[in-house]
Amino acid sequence: MIDKRSSRRDFIRTAAAGTSAALFPLPGLAQNAGGRVVVVGGGFAGATCARALKRLDPRINVTLVEASSTFTACPFSNDVIAVQRDIAAQRFDYKKVAADGVTMAFGTASGADPQARTVTLADGTRISYDRLVLAPAVDIRWDALPGYTEAAAEIMPHAWKAGEQTLLLRRQLEAMEDGGLVVISAPANPYRCPPGPYERASLIAYYLKIKKPRSKVLVLDAKDAFSKQRLFQDAWKELYGDRIEWVSLSNGGKVTSVEPATKTFVTDFDRHTAAVANVIPPQKAARIAEVAGVTDRTGWCPVDPVTFESRLVPGIHVLGDAAIAGAVPKSAFAANAVAKICAAAVARLLRGEAPAVPKFVNTCYSLAAPDYGFSVAGVYQPASGQWLEVEGAGGISPADAPRVVRSQEAKFAHGWFNTITAEVFG
Ligand SMILES: Cc1cc2nc3c(=O)[nH]c(=O)nc-3n(C[C@H](O)[C@H](O)[C@H](O)COP(=O)(O)OP(=O)(O)OC[C@H]3O[C@@H](n4cnc5c(N)ncnc54)[C@H](O)[C@@H]3O)c2cc1C
Repeated sequence: MIDKRSSRRDFIRTAAAGTSAALFPLPGLAQNAGGRVVVVGGGFAGATCARALKRLDPRINVTLVEASSTFTACPFSNDVIAVQRDIAAQRFDYKKVAADGVTMAFGTASGADPQARTVTLADGTRISYDRLVLAPAVDIRWDALPGYTEAAAEIMPHAWKAGEQTLLLRRQLEAMEDGGLVVISAPANPYRCPPGPYERASLIAYYLKIKKPRSKVLVLDAKDAFSKQRLFQDAWKELYGDRIEWVSLSNGGKVTSVEPATKTFVTDFDRHTAAVANVIPPQKAARIAEVAGVTDRTGWCPVDPVTFESRLVPGIHVLGDAAIAGAVPKSAFAANAVAKICAAAVARLLRGEAPAVPKFVNTCYSLAAPDYGFSVAGVYQPASGQWLEVEGAGGISPADAPRVVRSQEAKFAHGWFNTITAEVFG
């Protein structure tokens, strides 16, 4: 976590050197010709949106509120868990974002007043906006799985927010004795990164095959089907034999409670005690979205598909994993794509112009081993007030592709990560 006092000093210094209008609701703010946009959350969606706004119209006064001065990316964090990659490769700073003229405000946004059009930070700083973009991603629903509390996550990590949790799960795997059982529980939809639990199971199995050959992975699932299922299951058979066992919802895979003291997963039919327990719990839009009033009873944020403006609170746009927008996947690829669409819409709305109707592509890569990848791609457009996938426009990797193709797709996956992080943070 950042030092609040120094972050506030840094914020004021940055603001004073650059676009000070965003700091407090001073009378002079109204004179800013381009308008004021505050973006909360400097991840794949928020940082992209902030930079895109500045590029579209340098007169717009853009402030990016981010809780941490270092961003730790989730894509490829499964490789970190499987001891194939250093966490340093996941970390990025905001120097280049600030160099684009975005005012960085390091701190946690704790309140938003849609009437007064202000955002409040945990240290009391208040920032005025004409339009607010929320891109804070997800929080864990701590009340949804009996036994799974913040304290339990220190014993049975979720590792669904990259950083300390990622390293904790990795350390537990490294410390586990050969022969130990790794149990992963996967939630019902929707949650961030639908193929993520299965990529994680694959890469953990890869690690076990090399380092702990008597160990196995058990996946307990609250679903009967999952993203890229056939590709994953074929790869599991080919690469890991019976090392990965997947238990579907219909076969009693849904975890109904956990017991951290013994790392036990309880289902309707069974109890499974793990040597290493990874609980991927139910999720919801992060807290600031709830505080701002843009979540509905599902816990997610319904948005207009053209502008990403909240359907519940005018003047607030929601992007990335926090939003629920028809078929838009909760992926970094999609977060980056829709952030540019939202930035274009916000820039036009600030000028009093009508936003253009957008379209975008999402490609989602997964690894079944470090050199074994596959992907699914989709094209999305708004129709009947929702984002729908354009039929016949996407595609999935062929089921019977030779290993050389899988190996190429793994390289494409790395290429995608390098390109997107260079665009967002570089
Ligand atoms: C294990 C795993 C693997 C994944 N692999 C892939 C992949 O291969 N490809 C892919 O496309 N996607 C992948 N994803 C999904 C991807 O990480 C998310 O979809 C993406 O990060 C969403 O972007 P976002 O901007 O909404 O959220 P994030 O990128 O998580 O950014 C949210 C930011 O908001 C900040 N924040 C939150 N609340 C506040 C607040 N109140 N005040 C200030 N700041 C705040 C956080 O600090 C964070 O920096 C993976 C996810 C996981 C968990």
